[in-house]
Amino acid sequence: MPIEMPKGLPFSVDTFSPSSKRKRHHFLTHAHKDHTSGISSHFSYPIYSTHLTKSLVLLHYPQLDDSLFVGIEVGESIVINDPDEEFQVTAFDSNHCPGAVMFLFEGSFGNILHTGDCRLMPECLQNLPEKYIGRKGKEPQCCFDYVFLDCTFGRFSRNLPSKHSSIRQRTTEICLPYADNIFFSHYHFKWRRGWGGILCIFFLLIVMFYNLN
Ligand SMILES: [Zn+2]
Repeated sequence: MPIEMPKGLPFSVDTFSPSSKRKRHHFLTHAHKDHTSGISSHFSYPIYSTHLTKSLVLLHYPQLDDSLFVGIEVGESIVINDPDEEFQVTAFDSNHCPGAVMFLFEGSFGNILHTGDCRLMPECLQNLPEKYIGRKGKEPQCCFDYVFLDCTFGRFSRNLPSKHSSIRQRTTEICLPYADNIFFSHYHFKWRRGWGGILCIFFLLIVMFYNLN
C-alpha cells in the first residue's frame, strides 16, 4: 500500500493526495489501481514512470495529458534538478507487473530505495549497484539510509505460487473454453473459435497487465 513520503523529501512515490501534490517531483512505480488512486485529479508535472506504465495509466485515465509524464526505463539514471539540491534517481526491475520498477534515490537526503510492489528475488537484488550489495565476497561499501518496502504479503503464512505458475493458472482458466491446445513453453495457442480466441487474447492481456502479483 503506497505511503506518503516524509515531509523533508522533495518527491512523492505512488501517492496523489493533496499533500503529495505539494511535492515538486512525482514518481509512479507501476500502473496498478491502488498505486494510481487520485491521479485523475492530479495534474502536477512531472510524473516519472516507465513508458509502459504511462501507456497503461493513460488507457485508464484518458483525461490525463501525455506531457505530464517523463520517461525513465529500467537501468536508467536521471539527475533531477531540484531547487534545493539536485539528486539522482535510478529505476530497477521490481519483478512485478509489466512496466513496474523500483526507484533508488541518491542525494543529500541520503540513499533511499523505494521498491513499490515487488517480488523480491535474488536476481532483483543483484541488479542493484555493487556498492550497496557487494559481490564476489566483497562487503558492501555503503548502505541504504531508508528502504520503503511494500509488505502486503509480509505476514502471509502460506506459500505464494511462482510468477510463472500464476500466469499458467490464469491463462488456463481464461483460455480453456476456446483453445484446443495451449503450449505454454512457446506461448503458442491454437484456437477453436475465431472471435472467442481474439476475446481470449484480449482478456489474457488485461489479466497479465493488471491482476498478476
Ligand atoms: Zn501492484
